[in-house]
Amino acid sequence: MGPSSLRDTRSAELYARALNVLPGGVNSPVRAMRAIGRDPLFVVRGEGAELVDADSNRYVDWVLSWGPLIHGHAHPDIVAGVTDAAQRGTSFGAPTAGEVELAEEVARRMPAVEMLRMTSSGTEASMSAIRLARAATGREKLLKFAGAYHGHVDGLLAEAGSGLATQGLPASPGVPAAAAASTIVVPWNDPDAVRAACAEHELAAILAEPMPANMGLVPPAEGFLDFLRNQATENGALLVFDEVISGFRVAAGGAQEATGVLPDLVVMGKIIGGGLPAAAYGGSRALMEHIAPAGDVYQAGTLSGNPVAVAAGLSTLALLDDAAYTRLAAITETLADGLRQAAGDHPVQVQSTCGLVTIFFSAHPVRDLAAAQACDLAAYGRWCQALLARGVYPPASQFEAWFPSLAHTDEHLERTVIAATAAFEEV
Ligand code: PMP
Repeated sequence: MGPSSLRDTRSAELYARALNVLPGGVNSPVRAMRAIGRDPLFVVRGEGAELVDADSNRYVDWVLSWGPLIHGHAHPDIVAGVTDAAQRGTSFGAPTAGEVELAEEVARRMPAVEMLRMTSSGTEASMSAIRLARAATGREKLLKFAGAYHGHVDGLLAEAGSGLATQGLPASPGVPAAAAASTIVVPWNDPDAVRAACAEHELAAILAEPMPANMGLVPPAEGFLDFLRNQATENGALLVFDEVISGFRVAAGGAQEATGVLPDLVVMGKIIGGGLPAAAYGGSRALMEHIAPAGDVYQAGTLSGNPVAVAAGLSTLALLDDAAYTRLAAITETLADGLRQAAGDHPVQVQSTCGLVTIFFSAHPVRDLAAAQACDLAAYGRWCQALLARGVYPPASQFEAWFPSLAHTDEHLERTVIAATAAFEEV
């Protein structure tokens, strides 16, 4: 049930039907909006940075499919690329030129990527990257950070961010004890905990979101990524950056380019598929040539490198030149400043980097998952409901980032700040 000012009759009907045939009424948990105390809004259409729901409410969309849509909904170039590809056939199970072009483009942008393998989801890509890391090192244990999310891979769900943090789940039932036991979890931005874990365990990999955005946006402390690089090297572990969110967003070549810290393996998703199902993992030629059929580490996929998804990815990357990142950084700043202004004396922290913003309902800066969990989640939920009622669609969880895009105009930013100011008066 939403506030009375939000018409949601049609969404409510669809949700009632959905609850009969889809667990929780959705195909991915955070869509349910339970964390902000309301039912989901069913979408019928997206136009640029705007979303239209089943009751014809129109919103400024700050979720944009949780990251892939850096050019907004239905960008004409991307729609044209996808349409053209679909007309030539939607899947072949045989190689195409587009896959080669996309891999070349990614390798050109990402300093740590010489070769890559495409998958259909970020989950698959991170699952495959850790298989490769284990094969390459002959070790099994993984180090991950509390609040990081790397997809719903068995061994990576412990203290994960995103939907698990939103629902307050420390892990998931159904994960074999052995899978959980090979994952060591430490707090983000805590060098002592990393050092201790590296000393105690023979690690195959240190796995990190270099610009974590699944506990809300919590950037690395000064020098922390360099520290991880050194710890991995000194201890014979691979450093794996999960750039599913940060890739092609915080800079043309992701966080690795922005920070100059180079991982051994990179996990990619979201923007690389331009809103269609595509993801990838990549690294040096030496590491990637362990993957079958070049090597013996097995990984495959019926729809991997799907020609329609590849066309969407190519059209998306083609629009991401230097000027695009300058503009995205400016749009992000304006949003972050606007939210700060809207909050006035309310105790919030607006944390941001190019293409990502989180407003934490906290009196103190948020540096790790524990601090994110200590936020006033109820107030965030009420504020989000008030935003929705005013035509602004925020991520329905304190543990997610807002996704500024190149489709957000000055007018969208103004509308958002006006709504945010009014929403703060209400909570
Ligand atoms: N890694 C990160 C950093 C993510 O944010 C996500 C999804 N939000 C994933 C992996 C999993 O990707 P997918 O949902 O495509 O499986």
